[in-house]
Amino acid sequence: MLRWGLRLAARILNGNAIRDEIYSELSGEIAALRAAGIRPGLAAVLVGDSPASKIYVTSKIAACEKLGLAGFNLTPPATITTADLLRIVEDLNRRDDVDGILVQLPLPPQVDAKKILEAVDPAKDVDGFHPINVGRLVAGRPNLVACTPAGVMEILRRSGIQIEGANAAVLGRSDIVGKPMVLLLMHANATVTVCHSKTRDLPDVVRRADIVVAAMGRAAMVTPDYIRPGATVIDVGINRVTDLTHAEKLFANFPERLAAFRAKGTALVGDVHPDVASIAGALTPVPGGVGPLTIAMLMSNTVKAARLRRGARAPVAATVQP
Ligand code: NAP
Repeated sequence: MLRWGLRLAARILNGNAIRDEIYSELSGEIAALRAAGIRPGLAAVLVGDSPASKIYVTSKIAACEKLGLAGFNLTPPATITTADLLRIVEDLNRRDDVDGILVQLPLPPQVDAKKILEAVDPAKDVDGFHPINVGRLVAGRPNLVACTPAGVMEILRRSGIQIEGANAAVLGRSDIVGKPMVLLLMHANATVTVCHSKTRDLPDVVRRADIVVAAMGRAAMVTPDYIRPGATVIDVGINRVTDLTHAEKLFANFPERLAAFRAKGTALVGDVHPDVASIAGALTPVPGGVGPLTIAMLMSNTVKAARLRRGARAPVAATVQP
């Protein structure tokens, strides 16, 4: 397609369609569990009233309702102490109707976040952040895996992207996205390069990759000169742009996105510049790419946790890897 002289070569990988595919598979599994008297339950702990965290938690609970899972939303005040939050987590650990526990991050500064995340029963750790679950992933025996990187693997696999033998570059090495992403790609037999803020000659390094996963939180930093023609580019970043001059530069080749920005005064962009669509072979959009998969994998992990934790009482019908 030609827009203002820019040829959009990339196949757009539609995260919403892949999420729907996963939901329809999960629905069958949830129906089987419910027939066996089990309704998987997810408890979300939302501390304080950050608007962004509220939106995330609301959409997670809405997904539970859509799929017929039980969703519990706990909302302690922003002033809570580590000890009181630990008591909430321990109570959830004991509850039999709760299969998955997610503590929405970030936590207020007075709370010891590591202590809280380590207090979550690893069998209910549907975010995959507990050191036991991280260790299992390192050892190649994954159980509950961090949702965003697991979602990226679903996008790659379900879109028929060759992973085995591919050169992959992961931009970012956070505990939540970058590190588990590297491990998942490595276990899927890609040759993985881990890039971070101290990586020298980043565009040259990234240009060697067949698969690029950008997770830095740097708006549109990955420009076409980073990308080998035909590479698959997965954009994990979510950044809000509010400056008109910035938006005019980003969307110079996308008049409809610029018009939408002018109408709203704000737009979401990833870590990948929109012009990368002119050189990549396949590309996830922002929004509508990785984001929907993060919630889908949370649902998948909750169902998996219910099946594993309730053992022989539940029928086995896993569909989603790993
Ligand atoms: P984070 O904890 O801030 O980590 C950012 C990583 O990027 C760090 O490893 C950092 O390197 C690296 N980095 C930062 N600037 C860089 C640069 N100029 N060049 C190379 N590397 C650089 O972020 P995160 O939690 O992983 O999240 C990353 C992005 O993904 C954010 O935009 C976030 O909103 C988004 N996200 C999206 C979803 C979703 O569902 N789509 C889920 C989670 C996160 P150092 O380690 O050297 O500091």
